[in-house]
Amino acid sequence: MPSPPAPDERARDLLELVLERNPFQRARAGAQGLGSRPQLADLRPLEKRDLVLDQQRNPPFGTNLTHPLERYIQLHQTSGTTGPPLRVLDTAEDWAWWRALFADTLSVTGVRPGDRVAMAFSFGPHVQFWAAKEGLHEVGAMAIPLGGMTSAQRLRTIADVGATALMCTPTYALRLLAVATEERLEHALESIERVICTGEPGASLPRVRSRIEEGFGGRCYDHAGLTEAGPFGYPCPEGGGMHVYDDEFACEILDELRPVAPGERGELVITPLRRTGFPVLRYRTGDVVVRTDERCPAGHAGRWLPGGIVGRTDDMVVIRGMNVYPSAIEEAVRGIRGAGEFRITFYSERRGMDEIKLEVELPAGPEARELQELMRQQLGLRVRVVPVAAGLLPRQEGKARRVVDERAAK
Ligand SMILES: [Zn+2]
Repeated sequence: MPSPPAPDERARDLLELVLERNPFQRARAGAQGLGSRPQLADLRPLEKRDLVLDQQRNPPFGTNLTHPLERYIQLHQTSGTTGPPLRVLDTAEDWAWWRALFADTLSVTGVRPGDRVAMAFSFGPHVQFWAAKEGLHEVGAMAIPLGGMTSAQRLRTIADVGATALMCTPTYALRLLAVATEERLEHALESIERVICTGEPGASLPRVRSRIEEGFGGRCYDHAGLTEAGPFGYPCPEGGGMHVYDDEFACEILDELRPVAPGERGELVITPLRRTGFPVLRYRTGDVVVRTDERCPAGHAGRWLPGGIVGRTDDMVVIRGMNVYPSAIEEAVRGIRGAGEFRITFYSERRGMDEIKLEVELPAGPEARELQELMRQQLGLRVRVVPVAAGLLPRQEGKARRVVDERAAK
């Protein structure tokens, strides 16, 4: 059985509370045949589909509720990119916890009172907008919602109010740069000093980040969180990558549910220790990270994830026995000057071999060959690069969908 970090008092308190009052958690522990005083490490890691299934059987909120329903004040819904959406409820205490952690993350990126922070998210059921707004208010910065606007309207609003920071997905940051060029609105971004990204691995990829930094003329930061688990990752401005809030989350990095060795990749599995209303114990985030036992180059105390989130377990595809992450292909594409939008297709050729096709907007020239060579050398992948003219591939906003899987047997 894998063992998470030494169970501290918070983990014990959490476990005691939820096993006493939370029907979902009690039933899980019971089904595993655990005694009256199990340790965190005894529990089977929790997956999103377990929570979704419970909610489908017990609509509308499921049974993962530690407190009476009237204690809950806020509902969010997961984006459902990997299955049916999940409803997650927060109590006032849990929502205050989100607010404090989010404010801390914003402070780490340098957001201060007086900053004007534009949020390029829709005002929908997803947690990102709401948590960002709370965090900004806690910091004392101005929250500027950009929901329900076209990209050109967003650019004009940013210019009109002189926004100093922008929050969005890395894909959208790149999209906004492209629209600024198309609409001759490059000047609109002059006031932006920092771009704070989340929602995709992109902003942790060095070449994506440097593209954003060059385009905006400011710093780009990455942070991470999940509706189900809270805002667990904040950027390391000096050392790069990300830190996890160690005091707030018990954290494990597992592969096939076993701890990985230092230097290896694994799935981040976390337990928020103080969010009691909708607890997730040993939650499989689906985020792929690299384990290190070293401190970050700046010497910060918290657990360091070099390279931040390097991929998603649900994005990973096995091609000819190799684990392929679309984020690694994106990193290669962004290293090619003049490369625009791209699309990755996994397919089976006639003899049944799985292959990778990469359509990418490229200028006419040696770039396609250069890209093919880069992927062969850096990723050990044979990729068929198909250059296409600019503007042919679908534009991406929000969380990008650039992968098509047409393989015969998946
Ligand atoms: Zn650090």
